[in-house]
Amino acid sequence: MVGGVLDLTVGNAGLPDGGASDFIFSKGLISKKGKISSKGGIDADGMLVHPGFVNVHTHLDKADLLSRMKPNQFGKSLEENRELLKSFKRNYSESEVVERAGRVLTEMIVQGCTAVRTQVDVDTTAGLTALNALVKLKEKFSNLVELQLCAFPQEGVLSEEKQDLLERALEKGADLLGGLPLVEKTVEERKKHIDVLFEIARKHDKDLEVQIDESNNPDDFMLPYLVEKTLEEKYKGRVSATHCISLSRVDDNTALKTIQGLKKARMNVIVTPSANLITRFPEKAGRPGNSLTRVKELLQNGINVALGTDNIRDLFFPLGNCSMLREMHVLITATRMTEASDFERVFNMASVNGAKIMGLGYGVEVGRKADLIVCNGKNQREVLNGFPSVRYVIKDGVIVASTRVLNENRGVLE
Ligand SMILES: [Zn+2]
Repeated sequence: MVGGVLDLTVGNAGLPDGGASDFIFSKGLISKKGKISSKGGIDADGMLVHPGFVNVHTHLDKADLLSRMKPNQFGKSLEENRELLKSFKRNYSESEVVERAGRVLTEMIVQGCTAVRTQVDVDTTAGLTALNALVKLKEKFSNLVELQLCAFPQEGVLSEEKQDLLERALEKGADLLGGLPLVEKTVEERKKHIDVLFEIARKHDKDLEVQIDESNNPDDFMLPYLVEKTLEEKYKGRVSATHCISLSRVDDNTALKTIQGLKKARMNVIVTPSANLITRFPEKAGRPGNSLTRVKELLQNGINVALGTDNIRDLFFPLGNCSMLREMHVLITATRMTEASDFERVFNMASVNGAKIMGLGYGVEVGRKADLIVCNGKNQREVLNGFPSVRYVIKDGVIVASTRVLNENRGVLE
């Protein structure tokens, strides 16, 4: 029996390091690795068996709002979109958010995501409607995917009302606290925003994930302050910084000093390549000046860097098929990570590195979580260039999705 109450066996698995093995999963974990005689489960036929994809930064509450937008609402600037978003949020209902977010989350699962961390807007416009909806969705999908909810202050934190809402969100099921200093007007207010985040996170003993320096403007460089606060507040290992694009625009010495600070504070960096490349900030002569953070230098200096799709089919990003493969393609293209060893690095960014941020023990060793994908390719490079990319998605040792692929021998779909 496959995917039921009996232990699942996967035979002839290709491993991320190029080796091969059979597996038995039991009680949600990898219980045996090596040569196994009885192979009643999946025959991987040499295909790569890899820790599941982890989409560590997305916005499920806004996902697919595009389907509700009118033609004249497309193509706006970041500031215009933030205002437009309010009109959608005023009409949120829990059931509508559950339906929309659930549809998009399913698209992620069937393409190999075994864990997802979503931001959820918590502010005076949305109140706790989106958060309540996502708490329900998390329960509904608990056997299919590890879902973490990050209470996200899309409209800032500098009022008692906004802070109260965030605290209530953490009490009602949000797993951690998000941040967005850029939404405040002055540098001093942005620093205050970060101070408030630490106050609330510390009070509720929660991790932090702060969206920071996404404007690719060297004058908008708050990351050193976030590092400083993380060390001062003794929050080592509990803070992730998402975007960090201005790090690419400051001089090399400043960047290296900041990266060393990230290392000391054991901070994670999350990159969302598609969204980073499309955001419309004021541009000189209409020429895009978008960029990504210094991905290669961060990795070379031992920073845990993970990957997220960010927005899916909404006001901020009009595309998105929920594929981590697609996001990896954009990352590789934008950063020119094309050396042979880069493919493994990028695969890790899309899986184990995100799992580390979410506190999940991912890997292909005995005792690790049996949250794995059986891919449609023998190594990372083949999977990146193949279609479909994933044949089986396994969560807690149980098959939760499978994809039909062409059987080369018989010329039919199986
Ligand atoms: Zn985001």
